Amino acid sequence: MTQNRLSISDPIRTNDILRKYKLRAKKSLGQNFLTNEKVLNDIVDASQLQPDEIAIEIGPGIGALTEKLAQVAEKVFAFEVDQNLIPVLADTLSDYDNIEVFNQDILDVDLDQFVKDHGIEGKTIKVVTNLPYYITTPIMLNLINSDYPFQALVLMMQKEVAERITAEPGHRQYGSLTIGVQTLMKTRIDRIVGKNSFIPRPKVDSAVVVLERLEHPNEGINDPKYFNKVIRSSFAQKRKSLMNNLLNWQGRTDDNRAAIKQIFADCDVAENARAEQLSIPQFKEMANELQETFSK
Ligand code: SAM
Repeated sequence: MTQNRLSISDPIRTNDILRKYKLRAKKSLGQNFLTNEKVLNDIVDASQLQPDEIAIEIGPGIGALTEKLAQVAEKVFAFEVDQNLIPVLADTLSDYDNIEVFNQDILDVDLDQFVKDHGIEGKTIKVVTNLPYYITTPIMLNLINSDYPFQALVLMMQKEVAERITAEPGHRQYGSLTIGVQTLMKTRIDRIVGKNSFIPRPKVDSAVVVLERLEHPNEGINDPKYFNKVIRSSFAQKRKSLMNNLLNWQGRTDDNRAAIKQIFADCDVAENARAEQLSIPQFKEMANELQETFSK
């Protein structure tokens, strides 16, 4: 096998590319390049990409995941903010004619419009990506709130954020992010990825998370905006009881306390409960009742 035919992710080839282009991984852009072929294959397997499907990648880096995606998908669209990596990608991915790379900050891209402009509306589109960790949450929230129903998101992120997204009620990591994501998406951790799988080595472990759109997102929620306010207020001060957090929001009057007590009783919530103990169905019921009582 000639060196050129080594996968981009092979540590020898990754180091050669970094040397050839005198690249230094930019910490400020979350540049940690994956050099573990097994992890890359697992990410692609988790996406279940088919030959007639489209992959969108955020931050292709030097192209390690991009080339794997191009080997299974019809087409790959990749957004890379670092201008210095654009000529590198043109070189490392030159064997593939089904990849388009855009030198753009993903947070400036209107993905709904992008899908329309590129004639791929109606196609199965999956976002498969090793996220830049410094902006994991805004990127993920943009993707799950996007009008375009991406069929699946396979996202590598910090393990700690992955645990928050997939947490169950009662766990330390369960909070507003968990609920914001799980009212729209089914979530699971596909695998944990250790620090040694990257060049340079990041400070924290990572996890591959698979997010699939629920058939009925926001089901049972009368008003998603109000629901989000309830969630934010409920978790505003994690060490306080739910009652205290809701009273801080609505005002500490005897009438408000009595009304919230009644709502708790209706929703089977204990008076001294903390927000992290409530299931998502309980939050939905409570939010609907709070709105009926307090937004008349
Ligand atoms: N996909 C490559 C891999 O797995 O080896 C690189 C992943 S690295 C964790 C994150 C990549 O995202 C870097 O290439 C970085 O330059 C890029 N990036 C950072 N911020 C970005 C943004 N706002 N928009 C697009 N790409 C970004």
